[in-house]
Amino acid sequence: MNNYKVNEQGFYGEYGGAFIPEMLYPNVEELKKQYLQIINTADFQKEFNELLKNYVGRPNPLYFAKRLSAKYQTNIYLKREDLNHTGSHKINNTIGQILLAKQLGKTRIIAETGAGQHGVATATVCALMNLQCVVYMGEIDMQRQAPNVSRMKMLGAEVIPAKSGSQTLKDATNEAIRDWINNPENTYYIIGSVVGPHPYPDMVARFQSVISKEIKTQLKEQTGNENPNYVIACVGGGSNAIGAFYHFLDEPSVKLIATEAAGMGIDTNKTAASLKVGSPGIIHGSRTYLMQTADGQIIEPYSISAGLDYPGIGPIHAYLNDTQRVDYINITDKEALSAGFMLTQTEGIIPALESAHAFAVLDKKKFEKNDIVVINLSGRGDKDLATYISEL
Ligand SMILES: *Cc1c(COP(=O)(O)O)cnc(C)c1O
Repeated sequence: MNNYKVNEQGFYGEYGGAFIPEMLYPNVEELKKQYLQIINTADFQKEFNELLKNYVGRPNPLYFAKRLSAKYQTNIYLKREDLNHTGSHKINNTIGQILLAKQLGKTRIIAETGAGQHGVATATVCALMNLQCVVYMGEIDMQRQAPNVSRMKMLGAEVIPAKSGSQTLKDATNEAIRDWINNPENTYYIIGSVVGPHPYPDMVARFQSVISKEIKTQLKEQTGNENPNYVIACVGGGSNAIGAFYHFLDEPSVKLIATEAAGMGIDTNKTAASLKVGSPGIIHGSRTYLMQTADGQIIEPYSISAGLDYPGIGPIHAYLNDTQRVDYINITDKEALSAGFMLTQTEGIIPALESAHAFAVLDKKKFEKNDIVVINLSGRGDKDLATYISEL
């Protein structure tokens, strides 16, 4: 990956960097100095790859979806991240970061979570590694996502409600940062997407890049060519999308499409399409597109899918949007729901509502008969059954 690599200061073009309070500087600096050195060692790679194989279940299949392909008159392959342990791509990243935390000698893990998916993935790897785990979650989110709160507790994590502000993700993030400032010695902060201060976006992208690495190998085996015509993925913070795009970024023949959650529509105030309705500013320690008022207050995002309901977007996506390397499309709640039902009844696979946004592209764009189209199926839809059924 050459053209879209982060620079020394942690920027992708004018996006990224590390805009952090003075008191966080030592933690972030330690991480920045050490992360590449540690993750590139043979020992780290060995342990990471063994866990991905035997604990997560990788490589997961690249599945040629025959009926879906016939329906849309093209060739559609699904990358099955939904078959990973815990049901989505998030575990790839939490395994990478927990191994890094151990190497740094940390004994206590903190995380923030919105829908609870990242919290569950973090609590899972903490149980696996026998490390103390504290997850911050907005009080309102804890009520909305009660089953995930129970999962985290059963896994042994302490879930602390964020009671300030709107009691959602951004408030949980503030609490996690406050905790990190107060516990710099023993605590490691696991961030769940390609967001946050440098080096997090680059680090998370590297851990998720296993997705595109496997796609290349599997596509070569199945079609004789490692490069498809298209790769499609949904974007919240942007980690599954970057993972699916990573090894194709410097292959100009591979067209990349990402879907942002438009919610009720980008011309309403109930949306999460940060690139379409946002503007550059600073969120979660990095400069990127975010949904904000004229005086810089964060606007509460909305999407039917809890995992896409984020007011910002990873800085690399802001850059890939500016450079037009990736085409960012808006998908509404309605379009995603309909695509979720369509995939379920065509292939017998219930996608996460997040992933359903990627499948909605099939109804918006016409592909050629000979095109090879890879869709990243980021997670399974069991968690979303109640929402799907209420829309039947
Ligand atoms: C969390 C989540 C997402 C959104 O996060 P990204 O960092 O944008 O990938 C997408 N799909 C599923 C299944 C998720 O759990």
